[in-house]
Amino acid sequence: MTMKTLLSTLLALLGLAATAGAKLNVVATTPDFGAIAKEIGGDKIDLTTLAKPTEDPHFVDAKPSFIVKLSRADALIEGGAELEVGWLPPLVEGARNSKLEAGKPGRILCNQGLALLEVPTSLDRSKGDIHAAGNPHYTTDPANAKICAATIAGALAKLDPKSADYFQANLVKFTARLDAKLAEWQKLLEPAKGKRIVTYHNSWPYFAARFGLKMDLFLEPKPGIPPTPSHLAEVITRVKAENIRAIVVEPHLNRKTAEAVAGHTGAVLLDFAPYPGGAKGTEGGYIEWMDTLVHSLAKGFATAK
Ligand SMILES: [Zn+2]
Repeated sequence: MTMKTLLSTLLALLGLAATAGAKLNVVATTPDFGAIAKEIGGDKIDLTTLAKPTEDPHFVDAKPSFIVKLSRADALIEGGAELEVGWLPPLVEGARNSKLEAGKPGRILCNQGLALLEVPTSLDRSKGDIHAAGNPHYTTDPANAKICAATIAGALAKLDPKSADYFQANLVKFTARLDAKLAEWQKLLEPAKGKRIVTYHNSWPYFAARFGLKMDLFLEPKPGIPPTPSHLAEVITRVKAENIRAIVVEPHLNRKTAEAVAGHTGAVLLDFAPYPGGAKGTEGGYIEWMDTLVHSLAKGFATAK
């Protein structure tokens, strides 16, 4: 064996060893996808989540470091429903990573196989509506989180076939835990069934549909359009007329506005974290987050007059 072939053999062996022990570099756009990816990928992935759990997912502060992360990623998990349309495309373009090209196994769209709500019959962005492709906040329904988890498990298995059994086992575990919890959550929210709840932004129609609630009255006149005095006056009139008992606000929105409406109407104000990690007790993951939301709502309805 010549020195040259010896060297290349050694290098190849080192390369193989590195690949065998290497974790997949996975980037998730928002903390819900990140939390689900963590359940499935476990210690076989190195995970980076771009949006902070307390940040408005429509308007994420796109840091240059995100481009570096994306340039080194083996996979990108995104919603596929225009939630990130305002900030993600230039980052992906800047990363110039062929693994993340549309249609490649590394480009994972979580909306595959699930039905979006509120899909408009005709596209019209002229009024500033940021839900122009349908409502993108679909992981607020645990049933959709299961579909998303299965999509991620399938994609990770393609990227790292030798860990496919591991991903599948994690999927089964996550799904079983979620199913057990879902039954518990349905029971807890039984007293709220059929009740209307005001929300600041239209983030919760999937959550509402799953638990039989009505979360279809908003402080924003349109998604992404700040509340106006005339719109708030209309909302206050309806809250009083229909005796609506709860208002939901997320940490990145204007709590003072929500407080004012609560103050005028006597409704309880509930702080809803939009994502795992967005409030105390929700850091553990998707199930802990959903658990916190459900308990907060159940408690709110128990205390509301
Ligand atoms: Zn939205």
